[in-house]
Parts: sequence; C-alpha cells; structure tokens
Amino acid sequence: MSEQLILVINAGSSSIKFSLFEAEANPELLCKGQVEGIFTEPQFSARGRDGEKLSDTPLPVSSSRNHDAALRYILDWLRGHTAGKTLAVIGHRVVHGGPDFTQPVRVNSEVLDALEGTVALAPLHAPHNIMPMRVLSELLPKVPQVACFDTAFHRTQPEAAQLYALPYEFSQQHGIRRYGFHGLSYEYIASVLPQIDAAAASGRTVVAHLGNGASLAALLGGQCQATTMGFTALEGLIMGTRAGSFDPALVFHCVNHLGMSVQEVSDLVHKQAGLLGISGISSDMRDLHSSDSPRAALAITMFCQHVAREAASLVAALEGIDALVFTAGIGENDHDVRRRICTQLRWLGLEIDEAVNAQRHTAPQRISTAASRVRAYVIPTNEEVMIARHAWALASA
Ligand code: AMP
Repeated sequence: MSEQLILVINAGSSSIKFSLFEAEANPELLCKGQVEGIFTEPQFSARGRDGEKLSDTPLPVSSSRNHDAALRYILDWLRGHTAGKTLAVIGHRVVHGGPDFTQPVRVNSEVLDALEGTVALAPLHAPHNIMPMRVLSELLPKVPQVACFDTAFHRTQPEAAQLYALPYEFSQQHGIRRYGFHGLSYEYIASVLPQIDAAAASGRTVVAHLGNGASLAALLGGQCQATTMGFTALEGLIMGTRAGSFDPALVFHCVNHLGMSVQEVSDLVHKQAGLLGISGISSDMRDLHSSDSPRAALAITMFCQHVAREAASLVAALEGIDALVFTAGIGENDHDVRRRICTQLRWLGLEIDEAVNAQRHTAPQRISTAASRVRAYVIPTNEEVMIARHAWALASA
C-alpha cells in the first residue's frame, strides 16, 4: 500500500495554514505552509520538516482573492509534492464547538449543519473553519475529514466553573457558559506531561498558553478544572490587542455616555486594547522589549501581573499546584516574562533557575531549581500534531 498522509487545515479570517504528516499513531511532520493575505496580496509559503524553504510565492494574479482559491492552490501544490502517496484523512482546527461538540468528530452533512449553529457563538471564526470542510467534501469526497475543537478540552470543567452567575435558565436556553479556548494546545501539553513530570501530570498543573491570544488552564490529572477564557476568547488575560477581563459595565458607559456604537466598542476591546492599547506601540511582545518607551514597559508589567494573579486564582481552583508550564510564542521564548511571573508566584514555593530560564528552549525544559517545591517548565506546544493524532485515530477506527 502507498504511504498514507494526514493533512491538517487551520483556516482563519485572512489565512489558511496547513501541515502534512505521515499517517501513524504518532504522526511525523513532513511539511507545513500557508496562504496569507487572502484578501489583499495572497502569498503562499511552505517549509520542510527541518524548516527549509520549499516555496515562497505570490498566488497567480488570475486566481481569486478568497479562501476557496487559496485552498485549491494549497491542494494543487500538495498534489505536486506527494506523488505516489495517499491522503488518508484531513483534520481541521475548529475554534468553537458550541455546547454539543465535546470531542473530535468525523465530518458529514449533519455535522456541517450542526456547525452552522455555532456561527452565532464565533462569528469571526466559524465561517472560515466550516468553509474548507464543505469545499474539501466536494473536491475530495472519498477522503474522510475530522473536526477538532478548541473548546472541547474544557468540557470537563465542573458545572460550577463553566457557569456565569447569570439566571440559570437564561444561560441554559442560550448556550451561555465559559467555553474556554486553546484546548488543542492544552490537550497536547497534557499528552506529553506524563513523560516529563509524571507526578504533575497526575496531579495539579497550571498551563500558561501565552501567545498573541493568551489563556491559562488548571489541569487535575490532565483534565481541565478551570480556565481564564470564557464565552469568547476576549475574557481573561491581557492579550496582543484584546483587553482581557474588564468591567462589562464599561460597554454600557461607552454606548450610553460616550456615543460609541456597539461595533466601535467591540473594535476597541478586541483590536485596539491589550499590549497594543497600553503601549501605543505594538501588540508584539518583542517590539515592547526592544522599545525604551515607559508605556511599553507598563504593558509588559501589566501583562505579567495579570498572568500571576490569574494563575493564583487557578491554584485556588486546584487547591494547590505541583507544576506551572509555559507554552506558545511568549511562553516558549520570553525568559523575562517567565522570570517575572515566577518571581511574583514565589510565595507558592516556586523558585526559578534564572540561568536555565534565560537559555533558549526548543524542547521541554525544567526552569525551576532542584530545591523548588513547585516545578516550572517550558514545553513547546503543537496543536497541529494533536489534530493529526485525532484525525488518524478517527479515520483508522
Ligand atoms: P503565538 O500567538 O503563539 O504565535 O505568539 C505570538 C507572540 O509571541 C507575540 O507577542 C510575539 O512577540 C511573541 N514572541 C515570539 N517570539 C518571541 C521571542 N523570541 N521573545 C519574546 N516574545 C516572542
């Protein structure tokens, strides 16, 4: 039989990312790439498993500037690079599973119809996640597709942690709850933690997914007990351009007294706030570190303090902590942010090893001292491999 492949698709508002894996229970990456700038200047790029450049080119001027054309370009490119191999399954990252999707599912017409019901919950993401499934079921009808949800991992939270203190029936009727996000990242960390720290994996771990979007999750025996994101990915930590938690009455104030439209307030808290809003410089943590502006410094300080405060609240949810794990762009790369968060949490019995922390880590690494009661780690996340594992498991079931 020819070699089998798993394709992972992560479609966003202006980009489609893909990763190609050899099909096996522990899938090996073959190449990855993306079309970015879909509506402006679509650009295709792809890299091999060791990061070597395979392609970097604008899409032909004749192709339309939409997701459909981008997806077709990716498929054509993949066909040219996978001769003699068979596409066994396609896995999709889906940001929102709504109340009903609590684990990965095989995509069929009923699932697609049910996913349309999540558009109201995730209007910015759901249409882009659903569209490639529809297009691929027409283009490659024989290849099974699997949808993997960023909310699914959080469905194990106790009801008391999922509910807001709104009228109970209102929440039930309208599907209002803390869904939580970044679930595929947390699930990946939970899947590798047993090999890194078995006691923490079966005990109490707080995972800090600190990227452009940022959240924390409290894991007990690998299952989520609490998380900082809520009904949407706006709640919780300060993010690149998102405000994180703030008094919701501020929205009424903006609309009723400052004459702003709901759309303007939405843009304010989603696109103009966070690190960008505080610093007035950038949403990118690297830019803030290289700036000497006091407001860049203020943004970094506020970011770290919020992470530490929210982490402590998750420690209360777990009634203790064995390990703190840093992951995603900032968590994996920013030793200064890690040091500041750990220092603010030292009263928990967490002592960071500053020399080890300051090194660059591309593999899982303990960054707390040998004497530290609470262990701290940097563990690079891998959401794509998590999707590939789920897709292969369902396709070969
Ligand atoms: P992500 O959303 O996981 O891709 O993470 C994006 C965030 O990670 C941005 O704020 C980047 O500035 C940050 N980041 C990436 N590399 C570094 C680095 N070497 N040092 C500090 N922050 C970084």
